[in-house]
Amino acid sequence: MTPIYTVNPKNFTTILKNHRYNWNEFEKFRDVTKGSFVDGISQLKKYFNHFGYLMAEDMDSTDIFDANLENAITRYQAKLGLPVTGKLDSGTLSEIMSPRCGVPDKPPEKLSDMQRLEYFTGRPRWARSIPMTLTYAFSPSNFITSLSMQDTREVFKRAFGHWAAVIPVTFLEANDYGFADIKIGFYSGDHGDGEAFDGVLGVLAHAFSPESGRFHLDAAETWAVDFKTEKSEVAVDLESVAIHEIGHLLGLAHTSVKEAVMYPSLKPRQKKLDLKIDDIKGVQALYGSNPNFNFQAFSESDISSNDAVDFRIRSEICFIFLLVLILWL
Ligand SMILES: [Zn+2]
Ligand SMILES: [Zn+2]
Repeated sequence: MTPIYTVNPKNFTTILKNHRYNWNEFEKFRDVTKGSFVDGISQLKKYFNHFGYLMAEDMDSTDIFDANLENAITRYQAKLGLPVTGKLDSGTLSEIMSPRCGVPDKPPEKLSDMQRLEYFTGRPRWARSIPMTLTYAFSPSNFITSLSMQDTREVFKRAFGHWAAVIPVTFLEANDYGFADIKIGFYSGDHGDGEAFDGVLGVLAHAFSPESGRFHLDAAETWAVDFKTEKSEVAVDLESVAIHEIGHLLGLAHTSVKEAVMYPSLKPRQKKLDLKIDDIKGVQALYGSNPNFNFQAFSESDISSNDAVDFRIRSEICFIFLLVLILWL
């Protein structure tokens, strides 16, 4: 009998050990320190270069853990909301090895410049009058046989619906792929846009900023519409990835808020279907609010941990201020 796997991020490294994929070998860099020479660390430099943390001019092809790599790790940790140690500790390495979106992150130059809401350079959005309608269609020639068209259409309808509920934008599926604003397809390896897919796990999908509309998914993944029927331990939730990539198509870049859908990584068998306040504020800054949307409908648990931290810090400042006032009086 095939075991039913449940989401458990703790056993994620074990899952990865059972499958060969691009970033498996990073495991051997656990606790490697600056100044060390470790075979293959140049691949980690390439990873950080690809995702926006190591500029080409700061990168060499040696396997030496140099100061530039340490700096890249530090900025990565800050961007991904990890403890900033500059070291390849297990939490950091586990995040590096997690399957993720192929769109590069926008790390801060300096840690003090960290921002919560992130957009693409120039803050592009679909420049149409509001309320607007965007059409989407599936590539007739770039589809995968493991998914039924009916299931896929339903998944995407729901995924677009999450965004349509918060902004004055309507998404309509179109029959004419050539004329659709958003073009969705599954591709393998090098598919002509300079962002080759890498097989199982690693990069899952990517999408382009407005008004490109290109939305590409890695055909090599085990895409799941329902984890009850798709038992593979490397299955990836199609709806969660679709929601994330639609965020890019609308103009959002990656966030540091781990619970938000615009966080760059997603573990196998993990679902992330609800927009968080960070996602909503980000997209509403571009398009305004859907008149039917109401922030008050959000429960306490929907408030992201960063909001909670902000609140805690504010409370502590108030408490210290009160204490000083009492002592002074
Ligand atoms: Zn992304
Ligand atoms: Zn592509």
